[in-house]
Amino acid sequence: MLEELARIGRDPATNGYVRDSWSPADLELREWFRGEATKRGLDLREDRNGNLWAWWGDPSRQPGVVTGSHLDSVRQGGAFDGPLGVVSAFAALDVLRGRGFSPRTPLGVACFTDEEGARFGVPCVGSRLMTGVLDPGKALSLTDDDGDTLSDVMARAGRDPYRIGRDEETLATVGTFVELHVEQGRGLVEQGSPVGVASAIWPHGRWRFDFRGQANHAGTTRLADRDDPMLPFARMVLAAREVAEREGVVATVGKVRITPNNANAVPGLVSAWLDARGATEAGVRALVTELARDADVVEESWTPVVDFDHSLRDRLALVVGGGGGGDTPAPVLPTGAGHDAGILATAGVPSAMLFVRNPTGVSHSPEEHAEQADCEAGVVALANVLEDLCR
Ligand SMILES: [Zn+2]
Repeated sequence: MLEELARIGRDPATNGYVRDSWSPADLELREWFRGEATKRGLDLREDRNGNLWAWWGDPSRQPGVVTGSHLDSVRQGGAFDGPLGVVSAFAALDVLRGRGFSPRTPLGVACFTDEEGARFGVPCVGSRLMTGVLDPGKALSLTDDDGDTLSDVMARAGRDPYRIGRDEETLATVGTFVELHVEQGRGLVEQGSPVGVASAIWPHGRWRFDFRGQANHAGTTRLADRDDPMLPFARMVLAAREVAEREGVVATVGKVRITPNNANAVPGLVSAWLDARGATEAGVRALVTELARDADVVEESWTPVVDFDHSLRDRLALVVGGGGGGDTPAPVLPTGAGHDAGILATAGVPSAMLFVRNPTGVSHSPEEHAEQADCEAGVVALANVLEDLCR
């Protein structure tokens, strides 16, 4: 299945993937999902927000156990972030059927729309709309780089954009959600285990720092006369690293906008975006407070910690760890990345995540990787978990 998907949305120049929501590549991925569901005799539904559901059993009578992930990608992303979870979901279902298992609880495979937010800048659009966290009016007016709104692109894809929003009917079908995902770090490499269970998603936020100065000629303005905002910006970047190390959090300045952005001019304005995440809100807040002391700062987003359902997490760790025949629970580890499972957990759906080892820890890049044997271990672990939850 991963091989079939490998050609869709690949940039031949870089081998990175570009799979924006509602793009031709995304529509092709949706067709692929439909085909896999049909092949297995599953009941395919697309909800009002564009999320796809393939059901084994009827969830209108009883909420089901759902597994899956997303098929869209960050721009120039890798082959595993998202697709591994969807592919493993179908493969786990095949394993269960091969065992002659038939679920007592309806079992669903989900593919959430626009998890990465590559096109419109807001991540987890499908799950946020479904759970009502994202206002539909606000979502419809989100605009991509070409000036098209979400409303435009959904209408062009033959969907009715005016039906998006909180979806009680679909939410009621999801009794439990388990998302398998390639690990975006080296935690499992360090623990020597192919599969682990998520404990929590770190609290994280994004802040815009504006440094103002005076734009001026690079040749004729004496150093003493300059008001150069690039200098406090540079100090902030260096301080972010230093304070992050001290607070035990991570901080990144990955985007900067310089005005006027001329090689021969002292800039008049430097805007920089700080992304900060950590195990505790206190650590992240301390970092931002310290960096914000001499700058004009706007908090653009804040997501509190997501602590996954403890009993579900512990149950998964035992099932996954016991898969090798022993009683040692699988490693339980936190992540700094957001996921649809986090959105559902916050909305009160008991949710959990399985991670599959990533040898380099690199993610959101064509170098993202998981070994075949580890992917297979992930499928078996997921099948065992589903069997346990659906019996
Ligand atoms: Zn993902």
